[in-house]
Amino acid sequence: MIIIMKMDAEESQVQETIKKIKDLGFNTHLSQGENRTIIGVIGDISSIDESDVERLRATPYIEEVVRVSKPYKLVSRAFNKEDTVIKINGTEIGGKKIVVMAGPCTVESEDQIINIAREVKSSGATILRGGAFKPRTAPKDFQGLGEKGLKFLLEAKEETGLPICTEVMDTRDVNLVAEYADILQVGTRNMQNYALLKELGKCDKPVLLKRGMWATLKEFLSAAEYILAGGNENVMLCERGIRTFSDFTRNTLDLSIVPVLKAESHLPVIVDPSHGTGRRDIVKPMALAAIACGADGVTIEAHTDPEKAISDADQTISTADLHALMGEIKYISRMFGREI
Ligand code: PEP
Ligand code: MN
Repeated sequence: MIIIMKMDAEESQVQETIKKIKDLGFNTHLSQGENRTIIGVIGDISSIDESDVERLRATPYIEEVVRVSKPYKLVSRAFNKEDTVIKINGTEIGGKKIVVMAGPCTVESEDQIINIAREVKSSGATILRGGAFKPRTAPKDFQGLGEKGLKFLLEAKEETGLPICTEVMDTRDVNLVAEYADILQVGTRNMQNYALLKELGKCDKPVLLKRGMWATLKEFLSAAEYILAGGNENVMLCERGIRTFSDFTRNTLDLSIVPVLKAESHLPVIVDPSHGTGRRDIVKPMALAAIACGADGVTIEAHTDPEKAISDADQTISTADLHALMGEIKYISRMFGREI
């Protein structure tokens, strides 16, 4: 169960509410976001009498009491019926808007990222993606340029005006990455890195949380709950493919989770057809299908010379193909009543 305090509720009233819950025999979790204070009631709430819930509802400084028995509350539709819209500079993510993030898998050099950023900008995509800290399967693989890569991303942003989305893998790097990035990405391998999620909960930058390649719906939303519970309400959920027996793609892009996430949660949903398939020849149809099934945007790996990309070359489309794809994304977005 969650208790949403009125905007002008005083600290003493928050404490009084917590005491009432404790007197009923439950523990609480306090979340003090920028806009609202929420008290989560921990435990089996089925034993709470409806008359106690009604008494809480009637309290003048309490806005709403929502009974939710799922492990995730703050991310749930029950908690917030309105779509969360995340604002980054001039770009909005969520609601009616469709966002396209594009760029290389990894930042390779100053020239590479600036050239790609110019192409991303002229294609009409609105966010530049690119990794400076790379989660590579083998330690011998290129690990990314680290802070130097972040500096190159910032130069690309200054050149084009595109906000940056880049990955953070380590709690020790959160502040550093947040200095440069507009969106902090949590990769599939770190979806259940709870120390990292808690640190991001304290961060004031939006987070793109990628679904663990093994994760169930409940595990995915519970991971997002960690970030919101820490006070950061600006989280995007990203479907990026899961491991299945199917072997013609790198991962199986689970588009069926998109409408389910939209029904279960108010957070924006982004689809990654690049990692989701591992094949540049099917990035386009999957990107279009993602918009058709209700995603709020896509993130796409694109490069001026995809064959030569240091990482994920097989799934990286050319920036020329990105231009063409943007035209089709615009078309399908409008068909479904979305704005781009
Ligand atoms: C990425 O987007 O660069 C990435 C590494 O993605 P994932 O964590 O989904 O593999
Ligand atoms: Mn990649």
